[in-house]
Amino acid sequence: MCGIVGYVGYRSVPELLLEGLHRLEYRGYDSAGIAVLGDRDIEIRKKAGRVNHLAELVRTKPVTGRVGIGHTRWATHGATTDQNSHPHVGGNGDVVIVHNGVIENYDVLRKQLTQLGYVFRSQTDTEVAAHLLSHHLEEQIRLGGEPGDVETCLKAVYATLDRLKGTYGLGILFRECPDTLIAARCGSPLVVGVGKDEYFLASDASPLVGYTKDVVYLSDHEIAVLQPGNLRIEHRSRGSVSPSVQTLEQVASDTDLGQYEHYMLKEIYEQPQTIENALRGRLDGEEATAVIGGLNLTAKELRRIDRIVLTACGTSWHSGLVGEYVLEEFARMPTEVEYASELRYRNPPMSDRTLVFAITQSGETADTLAAMRECKRKGHPTLAICNVVGSTIAREADGGIYLHAGPEIGVASTKAFTSQVTVLTLLALYLGRMRHMSYPAGKRIIGQLRDMPEKISKALECHAQVKDVAERYHHFNNFLYLGRLYNFPVALEGALKLKEISYIHAEGYPAAEMKHGPIALVDQQTPSVFVVPRGGIYPKVVSNMEEIRARRGPIIAIACEGDTDIARIADDVIYVPDVEEYLQPLVCAIPLQLLAYHIALHRGCNVDRPRNLAKSVTVE
Ligand code: GLU
Repeated sequence: MCGIVGYVGYRSVPELLLEGLHRLEYRGYDSAGIAVLGDRDIEIRKKAGRVNHLAELVRTKPVTGRVGIGHTRWATHGATTDQNSHPHVGGNGDVVIVHNGVIENYDVLRKQLTQLGYVFRSQTDTEVAAHLLSHHLEEQIRLGGEPGDVETCLKAVYATLDRLKGTYGLGILFRECPDTLIAARCGSPLVVGVGKDEYFLASDASPLVGYTKDVVYLSDHEIAVLQPGNLRIEHRSRGSVSPSVQTLEQVASDTDLGQYEHYMLKEIYEQPQTIENALRGRLDGEEATAVIGGLNLTAKELRRIDRIVLTACGTSWHSGLVGEYVLEEFARMPTEVEYASELRYRNPPMSDRTLVFAITQSGETADTLAAMRECKRKGHPTLAICNVVGSTIAREADGGIYLHAGPEIGVASTKAFTSQVTVLTLLALYLGRMRHMSYPAGKRIIGQLRDMPEKISKALECHAQVKDVAERYHHFNNFLYLGRLYNFPVALEGALKLKEISYIHAEGYPAAEMKHGPIALVDQQTPSVFVVPRGGIYPKVVSNMEEIRARRGPIIAIACEGDTDIARIADDVIYVPDVEEYLQPLVCAIPLQLLAYHIALHRGCNVDRPRNLAKSVTVE
């Protein structure tokens, strides 16, 4: 959430910042702004709304300089106005900052600073940090520090950070300190791009692509000083840190829209490939098991595990629920999936034989990170299932499994869901073969997994049918999504997609639970989407459909190709390939993603930038 970009070097700073903000816009799009340090002053341009609006403003009122910072906001404190947009000015303009995160003690600090005479121009928590920094800068100057001396500025930064509670990624400019950009991190991601006589700062690596492949990920409590030809990193309590430069894998084409109109559609269509990427090198036909390299636990240690806790938020929580079912079935492993935002404050009994997995696309989700740290603190081996290489969760986990799905830009997650489910299935196979699963059973699963990319390509052939259904259903304002067993998480995910991008109220339920309450919602204006591929309890789900039909609720069924019976009960049927039950979430997710996409288009919604949302939720 929120994108920060910064630059110091020889290129045109405003252009570079604007380009970076465009690339980061998926992280927040309530407002955008830049600040550039010129020869005499720091000039700020900021505006509510999209980066395009800011670009227009910069075009009409240009700025110049060799160092600058920029921000796209996902508002936590204060409305989405011009005034609340970042950058924020401290004191009389001697410091300017951009901030990602939440200053939890802003209220107390605001009162103290107001008493000291500081005037607040916004309702943000961030402005408190700006004034506090200015206050400490003045203090350092009173103690004899030179205003333009980087050491004076750094001392002010240290003093300020000592008083902030909460989370921050900060980019800071000091008016009197030329060619210097200071960054500080606690809880919100920051990466430094290393160039020749230039440095970049960003919330994630996307603005750096095409400029440099050398990156340094900042850790919590680190402060970086970026000057042309000089990068200095310090830890707040441990002092100087020698930067560990890593190589960025991402290439520019990863984030191109190509032939597609939206990232969401592009990412839906990437799924045959992304599932193949998740499987690549991980299927061992000889041993009839999965090969999972990064767990950093020996077979002996893994055999000792008697319980798994999966922790996640949103879509990742839904893939975790599929994971719970498949781990229990394949590995006979007691498994629970926990909302990270709950787990971090709950204190469930967990023995030292409990293994924890944090599931997250971005690897930066604040709640998931906090839950993971809490579990680590208690001594549990804690692993990550994550997409973004080098992200905080990937770095802090004891080990883990990458999705290799490439950047997911669409705010509504699609390909990450199916990749997470694929990886969790591999994990279940691996642990299953270590315990009770027979060789032939492992062999069969491997064969079925190998077929998945092709099955997903086939599932995508339902697109025209889904489009037609969306056209006829987009005007409804309430939907139920129903499925059982492996398809219950799919129902939850389908409902979430619709809510996220079309703003239609949708509820996901286990199909049989519906009669314990939600059936009261059913009428001719409330369609039910049944996820009902063939399987052990198919007839039971069909009975649940009859119950809806008896109450005149319109029914859309997601069913296996060749299932003509279902067409007698459902008003509309969307067909997907027939696969084993544990793989049904992968094929059944496809029509639900497409359905949400087309309904949102019909309703004129921005599918890639849905209101109130942003990618990578880095605040609590
Ligand atoms: N809390 C700050 C605000 O509301 C920063 C939000 C963000 O991370 O975008 O402005």
